[in-house]
Amino acid sequence: MKLLCKLGLHKWEKAGGFSQYSSNVREQHYICKRCGERKKEVIAKKGDDFF
Ligand SMILES: [Zn+2]
Repeated sequence: MKLLCKLGLHKWEKAGGFSQYSSNVREQHYICKRCGERKKEVIAKKGDDFF
């Protein structure tokens, strides 16, 4: 049932990510459990967040 995906309503699930220690951002990757589409988000770190 991928109708919702066609409408852009994916079922995102976190699929890892990585942090660049030399920068103030980290990437969070997602994958749709229904259709397998991937996306990534770039998240700004907070000042003391060394995740
Ligand atoms: Zn999807």
